[in-house]
Amino acid sequence: MIVQSKDITKPVRESADVCIIGSGCGGGASAKVLAEAGKKVIVIEEGGYFTSGDFDMTEQTAYQNLYQQRAGQATDDLAVTVLQGKCVGGSSTVAWTTSLRTPDFVLAKWKKDFGVNGLSSKELEPYFERVEKYLNIHLEPEENHNPNNRIILDGARKLGYKAHASGRNTKDCQKAGACGLGCPFDAKLSVNVTYVPDAVKAGAAIFANFRASRIAINGSLKQVFGHVIDQETHKAKTNFVIEAPVVIVAASAIHSPALLLRSGLANSSGEVGKHLTFHLTSAVLGLYDRIIYPAGGVPQSAMCDEFLNKNGDGGGFWIEAVPVYPTLASLALPGFGNRHRELMRQYAHIGASIVLVKEIDSEGEVGLNEYGRPSISYAFGERDREYMKQGLKIAAEIHFAAGAKRVMTLHSHKTESTSPQGMNEALDQAPWGTNEIALYSAHPLGTCRMSEHAVRSVVDSHCETHDENGLFVIDGSVTPTSLGVNPQVTILAIAEKSAEWIAENRLKK
Ligand SMILES: Cc1cc2nc3c(=O)[nH]c(=O)nc-3n(C[C@H](O)[C@H](O)[C@H](O)COP(=O)(O)OP(=O)(O)OC[C@H]3O[C@@H](n4cnc5c(N)ncnc54)[C@H](O)[C@@H]3O)c2cc1C
Ligand code: SF4
Repeated sequence: MIVQSKDITKPVRESADVCIIGSGCGGGASAKVLAEAGKKVIVIEEGGYFTSGDFDMTEQTAYQNLYQQRAGQATDDLAVTVLQGKCVGGSSTVAWTTSLRTPDFVLAKWKKDFGVNGLSSKELEPYFERVEKYLNIHLEPEENHNPNNRIILDGARKLGYKAHASGRNTKDCQKAGACGLGCPFDAKLSVNVTYVPDAVKAGAAIFANFRASRIAINGSLKQVFGHVIDQETHKAKTNFVIEAPVVIVAASAIHSPALLLRSGLANSSGEVGKHLTFHLTSAVLGLYDRIIYPAGGVPQSAMCDEFLNKNGDGGGFWIEAVPVYPTLASLALPGFGNRHRELMRQYAHIGASIVLVKEIDSEGEVGLNEYGRPSISYAFGERDREYMKQGLKIAAEIHFAAGAKRVMTLHSHKTESTSPQGMNEALDQAPWGTNEIALYSAHPLGTCRMSEHAVRSVVDSHCETHDENGLFVIDGSVTPTSLGVNPQVTILAIAEKSAEWIAENRLKK
């Protein structure tokens, strides 16, 4: 059953075995596992319920309906734009389909430094395999890479760097290029077309347009309070309370800590909201004589992973293609006036790659602003900044090797050149202060981190909060360190494993 705000006329009071807050990767996967285990599951989702018929492949519709703050969510200083989904299926509904396992060296660090149990590569193997099979994760054949992805494959290989196809969670992809706007063909096997409908089939109820504002503990029961949001006005139209012995907070690494902070729960360590990682991202643009059209075809299907953990320090970067839709281009392209106009005119000739840094000395925090909404801050560390600079230089080199005539970055100070040497010099001179380069994150993680050491963390290895029996956080918040890869497979695998544990150990009847 999927209930929407338009179906609600009076305050809602419900009870269940499990109330899950958020229907993205963490919430959706948990809902399916628990519903199929015979538990009564209610999922609360702040965003709306949309299906492929609603996805018209325009940015106007997608940003309005599917994204947090219409794709304008950012750190308080506006230095980093933080993209997240807000709809049934969560960020997976707008994700770009790259599907990768957690690197072994990352899982080994979680065990060694945080005492995490049960999440070694070997122990996660059956969960990775299950996710990969369920979501039809596969590599695209060579002929399916669009010109934007070919830049990475061809340019990197010419230079002798490792570059290859990345896994994608699609079936019968029509190469429509709209993954970030909601797939109009249901070809992207995102949570909204897989875990959520299967959870519903097994009896779960999804309450869309329901925003949780607070959780309270009432003896052995937990109560989730919140508001039903009117679909037209986006204002609260009535309220709800859901009672359950088990509550899973799965509202994402930005919104889960905010909910716990508002509720005054699970924070005896003082760690809720701390250790935010972004997989910090910026871009390199190349101008080509040939047509690239950076929004067409399969948007993200290849990567260059030569430089991840290359020095063995757990850091480094990764290069991927990025689908640049026209509005996004108009916001992201550097410069103003004539320079900006000239670039927009050449839109179809732009190739765009992103450099994603696996943080080792940068960290952010999620707190609460005066309205009780998330307040996001982030400090960019020196070593990560060096990796970002190196990554932009390598990505520029790749573009030149692939035939770009001119290459530029997203610095506020003009940073462009017609040669790799010139680009290296421009990047050495470029300013790196706050708001002097456009930065993005679509992978916020780590704000309710997992460890068996309760004083340093929020949840244990089963994602149960150290402070409250039966209160779980299952989403991107729980990673103890930055991941270095796109996170959806990691979150889905951890969610499936933790939800199984809950069914066996907290809800066994
Ligand atoms: C544009 C974009 C592209 C991406 N591409 C990829 C990719 O190619 N590969 C990859 O691996 N990852 C990708 N990601 C990241 C990936 O989608 C996320 O890491 C993952 O979905 C996070 O899962 P989650 O469960 O932590 O949160 P989400 O999936 O974000 O789900 C959280 C849900 O909770 C809801 N919520 C928040 N607050 C409340 C509240 N108070 N009450 C009720 N509900 C609430 C939100 O509306 C949201 O639906 C991408 C993300 C974006 C935004
Ligand atoms: S590229 Fe494929 S998966 Fe993405 S929106 Fe188009 S059809 Fe759907």
